Amino acid sequence: MMKKQKRYFLTEEQIPTQWYNIQADMTNKPLPPLNPATKEPLKPEDLYPVFCEECSRQELDQENAWIDIPEEVRDLYAYYRSTPLVRAYGLEKALGTPAHIYFKNESVSPVGSHKLNSAIAQAYYCKKEGVTNVTTETGAGQWGTALSYAAKVFGLEAAVYQVKISYEQKPYRRSIMQTYGAQVTPSPSMSTRAGKDILTREPNNQGSLGTAISEAVELAKTTPNCKYTLGSVMNHVTLHQTIIGLEAEKQMEMAGEYPDIVIGCFGGGSNFGGIAFPFMRHNIKDGKTTRFIAAEPASCPKLTRGKFHYDFGDVAGYTPLLPMYTLGHDFMPANIHAGGLRYHGAGVIVSQLLKDKLMEAVDIKQLETFEAGVLFAKAEGIIPAPESSHAIAAAIREAKKCTETGEEKVILFNLSGHGLIDMTAYDNYLAGNLQNYDVPEELIEKNIDKVKGLV
Ligand SMILES: *Cc1c(COP(=O)(O)O)cnc(C)c1O
Repeated sequence: MMKKQKRYFLTEEQIPTQWYNIQADMTNKPLPPLNPATKEPLKPEDLYPVFCEECSRQELDQENAWIDIPEEVRDLYAYYRSTPLVRAYGLEKALGTPAHIYFKNESVSPVGSHKLNSAIAQAYYCKKEGVTNVTTETGAGQWGTALSYAAKVFGLEAAVYQVKISYEQKPYRRSIMQTYGAQVTPSPSMSTRAGKDILTREPNNQGSLGTAISEAVELAKTTPNCKYTLGSVMNHVTLHQTIIGLEAEKQMEMAGEYPDIVIGCFGGGSNFGGIAFPFMRHNIKDGKTTRFIAAEPASCPKLTRGKFHYDFGDVAGYTPLLPMYTLGHDFMPANIHAGGLRYHGAGVIVSQLLKDKLMEAVDIKQLETFEAGVLFAKAEGIIPAPESSHAIAAAIREAKKCTETGEEKVILFNLSGHGLIDMTAYDNYLAGNLQNYDVPEELIEKNIDKVKGLV
């Protein structure tokens, strides 16, 4: 009998040479981002003061379906790519399902998540354009970690504003960023006008993504040759992440299968879009009927319970107005939520695709999320990031349906990262300290009401 193959790899030469820009193939293009002051559609030049120029152009490119991956970026991708496509035999057995479950293992990147795929690209373009310093905000630290390493590789200085409470309570990602040579500042800090203002009003402010974004954007705007970078939500970030799905497409072919269902967890949409869009192009162009499922936490349900409306991309109100599914930019998930994916809105491409029913969304409660993560760890050996466990939980739901119907569906999900630096969340789950939480409808309505006046 032929040995059952567990993992599929590409050679370095087979790593894709272009990213896929789904905007070019969409029948209904995303609506344009708007300048909040004038309400005029933005042009790439409007983004130059904050983002590097190439990323600004990629952000608004609705024409070119394929964008060349620069050779320097491909060289660095080769440090950890291709990532393995894995047949989850262990999970299939644990579930007793006839479904064929595959996952793309992005946790093998040096920083432990998919975020490096875009950090390398952004740092490269910055370097090429003569930028010397990059800055960003980070909560738990996954994006800050990826950017710190990518900046170092290209000889850029990285300044990361980390939400103060995370800086103090989750020290290991801070240590990792510092090991890569980044300057990590707990936010709010006295190093910016925005930070000083907050601390003068409230000396014990523990920080939030909003305070950290305000500080990072201010630094970028006031420092020569310094650009701001983002690890999710923006179209150019998702573009860079399509390397995941493009590799997976080739690897699924090696396995002799094509997915009936593709699943990704959903924060701002970059890892979901990264695995989904390359397969979605075959739905749009070649009549395939794959289902695409974004899995979000029930405690931050922008896709399943949010409204499609223009809103700010950040809590501080610095970004352009973006047409997206949103819970309102003031929305903050409850403190008992431990699974990440806390962002209030969805990227504009995914928002349009959901509106046009080219994809679906499900919300997952936190106990089901951690139960799925623990089951996966026992069955496959990898401790998943709590974020990724939302995708695992959605895959398990679909696999269980197959157990009932006897169908051998092919399910592919993205394992966006490992959870080895998130063990506090697992500790809380194992100790029985986590509960489910449903966001009250009034809270969502109240936050969305505030957004309605923006445009
Ligand atoms: C940041 C992160 C996410 C969420 O971001 P997306 O842009 O929605 O992908 C998911 N998983 C991991 C491991 C992350 O670090």
